[in-house]
Amino acid sequence: MAFGFIERQTKNFINIDPLQTGGRLSEDAKKALLEWGDGYSVCDFCTGRLEEIKKPPIYDFVNDALPEFLGCDVARITNGAREAKFAVMHALSKRDGWIVIDSNAHYTSYVAAERAGLNVAEVPNTGHPEFRVEPGKYADVIEETRRKGEVTLAVLTYPDGNYGNLPDAENIAKICHDYDVPLLLNCAYAVGRMPVKMKEIGADFIVGSGHKSMASAGPIGVLGFREEYAEQLLKKSGKYRAKEIEFLGCTARGVTIMTLIASFPHVVERIKQWNEEVKKARWFARRMGELGIEQLGDRPHNHDLMFFESERLYKISKRVKKGRYFLYRELKKRKIHGIKPGLTKHFKLSTYMLSKDELEIVIDAFDEILRRHSS
Ligand SMILES: *Cc1c(COP(=O)(O)O)cnc(C)c1O
Repeated sequence: MAFGFIERQTKNFINIDPLQTGGRLSEDAKKALLEWGDGYSVCDFCTGRLEEIKKPPIYDFVNDALPEFLGCDVARITNGAREAKFAVMHALSKRDGWIVIDSNAHYTSYVAAERAGLNVAEVPNTGHPEFRVEPGKYADVIEETRRKGEVTLAVLTYPDGNYGNLPDAENIAKICHDYDVPLLLNCAYAVGRMPVKMKEIGADFIVGSGHKSMASAGPIGVLGFREEYAEQLLKKSGKYRAKEIEFLGCTARGVTIMTLIASFPHVVERIKQWNEEVKKARWFARRMGELGIEQLGDRPHNHDLMFFESERLYKISKRVKKGRYFLYRELKKRKIHGIKPGLTKHFKLSTYMLSKDELEIVIDAFDEILRRHSS
């Protein structure tokens, strides 16, 4: 095995993996990657706290630009969306406390809650084919859960990472507040892709992922919250007075924050194209539908992340030589990457920032694969 520089196999592929489409670096971020790549590069300029570094302008970014962008009072940088969620859950955690989470939540919401010592109650979705999370269900589950113990936080995945559904977050925030439960919006697939402001929705915390949706090298995340939670979340160490406990003193201490900052103007601009992105996603879903590959979740869809169902591809997988890996291999031959190996009946993909020409290639590939294998 030869280590050293390794070329990336998917480099010149059309990549429709939802994990990848929003994290591709801007040209400025590529430059920042080289300029700030050395270990603790930003720490040359630190006087005790990451957010207080004036040059490079981390101070301005965290204290002005980011809160405005997220529509919140206070912002922090974390090492990922999951670390942001964990920081909030941990800061708010109570003995025998509960957290209410939508059933479309990402696994990291569960794991973070477990680590923070919270019991988890789930808000069910409507099931096949839409899998919607309805506001009223939050009321039901909070009611039920309150009988078992204190509900310290509610989480809404906005949108979720399976179906790309955007629930009625405003209404959910109102319902949570009727019960005095703060709401955290997990916007790993929203912040950096589409317009979203925490306070406009009425939530209390907002979480984003730099490497997923903000054209940044990772891991890095962003957290925004209301002033009233600042004391709890920004509690300082008793011994090291500058260091915030929930963030273990310091988070993104190197190149990741510099790529996030480098891409920020690009991200602010691209969000203005969101309507076009939604139109393109709907067009793509319609074309897939013409091939008998049905989009599940919200319809018409409001996000670039989409979940598809195909009985035909599934049936083909039952009789071809490569079995359920045939689709992955057929797409790979055509330099298309992003559908998990082994999936045929259900799979998700993203059309974000891909050109219509590239998406035509993807649609043609599915068309050809279906034709080739139809008996
Ligand atoms: C990807 C994803 C995460 C995890 O993001 P990290 O920044 O890698 O921790 C969390 N929640 C949702 C909904 C996601 O899609």
